[in-house]
Amino acid sequence: MALSIVHDAPLRALNSFGVAAQAERLISLDDEAQLPELHAALADGPAPFVLGGGSNVLFTANVPGTVLRVALRGVRMLGEDGDAVTVEAAAGENWDALVRWSLAQGLCGLENLSMIPGTVGAAPIQNIGAYGVELREVFDSLDAVDLRTGEPARFSAADCAFHYRDSTFKHGDAARWLIVRVRLRLSRTPRLRLSYGELGQRLHEAGIDAPGASDVAAIVRRIRTERLPDPARLGNAGSFFQNPIVPAAFGNGFCAAHPAAPTYPATLGDAPALKLSAAWLIERCGWKGIRDGDAGVDARHALVLVNHGVASGAQLLALATRIRESVHARFGVWLETEPVLVPAR
Ligand SMILES: Cc1cc2nc3c(=O)[nH]c(=O)nc-3n(C[C@H](O)[C@H](O)[C@H](O)COP(=O)(O)OP(=O)(O)OC[C@H]3O[C@@H](n4cnc5c(N)ncnc54)[C@H](O)[C@@H]3O)c2cc1C
Repeated sequence: MALSIVHDAPLRALNSFGVAAQAERLISLDDEAQLPELHAALADGPAPFVLGGGSNVLFTANVPGTVLRVALRGVRMLGEDGDAVTVEAAAGENWDALVRWSLAQGLCGLENLSMIPGTVGAAPIQNIGAYGVELREVFDSLDAVDLRTGEPARFSAADCAFHYRDSTFKHGDAARWLIVRVRLRLSRTPRLRLSYGELGQRLHEAGIDAPGASDVAAIVRRIRTERLPDPARLGNAGSFFQNPIVPAAFGNGFCAAHPAAPTYPATLGDAPALKLSAAWLIERCGWKGIRDGDAGVDARHALVLVNHGVASGAQLLALATRIRESVHARFGVWLETEPVLVPAR
């Protein structure tokens, strides 16, 4: 099958914010056998923007150059080693479909990461995390292709340099890497992580005192459905800002001034630090539930910017900028954006 190439392609249906934008050229990669043709199509041009499910991206304008949409499919078990099972999934697989599939196979490890939108290939980019678990804890390795040379490469967990919402793929000349498949190490025996937030309490309230991985997944789904707007109804990209991690000295002063603020122990490099709640900071600045035209802040979750209809990426970005500035003016902390801004700024 030949590569699908569309010029002046609309991107609105391809991003969870639902903002209108056009790609000068949209290439869809459906099969690894198309990689040589892809390499030829990209020859001598600038690196494309690689697009998965579009759930962590804000198109702030039309995209010059190429958007490369990854639609590679396939999931399989590679092998078992005692309790551990290695699973391999192609980059274009839906992440949550993989979580459901793994649970149906009796495999544990992904339950806390239920219902995160997007594709498998994007999961390592920001080391997706939720309810006390991050991808790195189940990550085995991934295969990527260097879009400049067409050469394949394998990345171990150490190569990926995972940190909070971060990996090597967000730095340097990361745009050269196309992730084609990811391997995860799951387990047959549940090692449930219930310490985060209200997970344990919600299981208890549901009368589940000896939960399995599927019970945890069901509770995570329930909490997420209550807390987060569904992008199919209200455009959004989940958390728009990362929780800031500040040096311990700054954190101590912050805690003294704001004893009610939620904080969590963290590290900056090897130094002790404090993770602050971006949602708390934004809410204190009065942004929760506000609306400016069709760009707004969700009424239930202050971290989530929403598109009430036809907000443009530029309007959403302008609102985000005002929020960042007000948080900085009041608390002395700059919030970092979580979604990728395209075109790059
Ligand atoms: C309602 C909602 C809730 C969310 N909750 C969470 C959450 O709990 N935790 C969390 O971590 N995230 C969360 N997110 C953010 C998002 O779901 C994740 O970041 C997800 O991994 C993005 O996947 P995607 O396929 O949509 O990536 P895209 O948005 O398409 O791309 C994101 C980045 O990954 C790169 N990329 C994508 N695929 C590839 C590939 N194959 N090779 C190389 N680079 C690639 C892109 O170039 C871009 O830089 C949420 C988003 C929404 C809308």
